Amino acid sequence: MDQAPPRTMTASEGANWFFRGAATRLDLSDDLVTLLSAPYRELHVQIPVRMDNGELRVFTGFRVQHNGARGPYKGGIRFHPEANLDEVRALASLMTWKTAIVDIPFGGAKGGVQVDPRALSVGELQRLTRTYVENISHIIGVYRDIPAPDMGTDARTMGWMMDAYGKMHGHSPAIVTGKPIPMGGSRGRTEATGKGVAIVLGDTLQNLGRSRLATRVAIQGFGNVGSHAADAIAELGCRIVAVSDVAGGVRNPDGLDVPALREHFARTGRLEGFPGATSMSSEDVLYEDCDVLIPAALGEVIHADNWERVQAPLIIEAANHPVTAYADHQLAQRGVMVVPDILANAGGVLVSYFEWTQNIQQHRWTASRVETELEELLSSSYAEICARAAEGLPLRSAAFDVGVSRVVEAVEIRGIASSGVESLAA
Ligand code: GLU
Repeated sequence: MDQAPPRTMTASEGANWFFRGAATRLDLSDDLVTLLSAPYRELHVQIPVRMDNGELRVFTGFRVQHNGARGPYKGGIRFHPEANLDEVRALASLMTWKTAIVDIPFGGAKGGVQVDPRALSVGELQRLTRTYVENISHIIGVYRDIPAPDMGTDARTMGWMMDAYGKMHGHSPAIVTGKPIPMGGSRGRTEATGKGVAIVLGDTLQNLGRSRLATRVAIQGFGNVGSHAADAIAELGCRIVAVSDVAGGVRNPDGLDVPALREHFARTGRLEGFPGATSMSSEDVLYEDCDVLIPAALGEVIHADNWERVQAPLIIEAANHPVTAYADHQLAQRGVMVVPDILANAGGVLVSYFEWTQNIQQHRWTASRVETELEELLSSSYAEICARAAEGLPLRSAAFDVGVSRVVEAVEIRGIASSGVESLAA
C-alpha cells in the first residue's frame, strides 16, 4: 500500500499527491515532476463592476493554465464566494489529466471568480462576466484556451462570454463551450456530465456483476451535475434513495421518483417537502445506507474527520476533488471502491470537445450522435483504466497513470523534456 498522506493538505497539495504517486510508479525524472506539479501560467485579475446602486465593487478572478502539451488549455470557470487560487490551481491540473484520460486534444485549465452569483442581479452578473473575459482575453483563444461552465456558471454565462470575446476578436463561437444551443452550443452538453456519471456507474455495475435494479444510490448535489446524474441513473433502473442540495436533502429507502422530485424542486425551489420522503441535512446524505454514493457538489466533502462515517462500498466522484487524499487512502484500505473524478465526470469536457469541433467545422451534430460518441469514448477510456487497475492498483491510481503517461508522451514529442519512460497508453 502507498504511504499515507497527511490528514490535511490544501487542494493543490492533494491533487499533487495523486500526481506524485503516478510519477513514482512511472519513474518520471525530477525535471518532469517539477514541470507537471506546477501550472504553466496563473493569471490573477481585478474585476471592477458598477453595481445597480451605483457603487463600484472590485471582484477577484483567476485563470490558471496547467499544461498545454496535448492541445489548447481547456476547463471551466467557477463563480463561487470561496473560489481561490489554490483550488483553481488544483482543478486546472485535474483537467490536464482528465482530457488526457479521455484522449481529447486539449490541455488543462480552470478559472474562478470570488462571487456569490445568486447575490447579484442579472445585469450585475452580466457586467462581471464581460469584464472578467475582457481581463483574461489576452491568454484565451480558440486554439489557446477554451473556457466552459463549472460551479455557479451555465450556458447563459457562456453566451455572455462568447459575445464579449466576439466584440474584441470577431465572431468566435469556439472560444467557449457549454453555450446556449442557438449560439452554437452542442446538443447534450448540459446533461453530459450527469449522463457520463451514469455511463460510468453502469459500466462499474457490469464489471462487478451487480444488478442495476438492486442498486441503491445516494447523491449529494442537485445542480446541473447531480440532477442530470439522478435522471440518467434512474433511467438505468437503479433506486435513488437520497438526494440533497445546499439547503438540505430528502430520503426514501423505497426510491425517490426523480422526475416528480425535479418538478417539485422547480416549483418550490427546495427538495424538502417532497411527498413521501423524509428530510435530512445535505451533509447526512454522505453517510446514507446505500450501495453507491455520488458526491456531485463541492470539493473535499469527504475528508479526514468524516470518511469513517461513509457507508457506501462504492463512490463515484461526480464533483471535482470531493475526496481528500487522506480520506481516499483510508477508504482504499477499507476496500471502498472509488471511481475518480478525472474519469467519472469527464462526460462534460468530452461533449465540450464535440461542441468545439462542431463550431470549428460549422457543422451541427444530432443529439443521438453526441450520445453515441459520448458513450463510446467514455466507456473505452474506462476500460483502459480498468486494464491498468487489473495490475493491482486502485482506479484513481490507474487513471492518473494513464493520464500522466499521455501528457508525458506529448511533452517528450514536443522536445520540452525527456523522461525515458515508455508510454502506457497507445
Ligand atoms: N467544468 C467541467 C469540468 O470540470 C467541464 C470543463 C469543460 O467542459 O471544459 O470537467
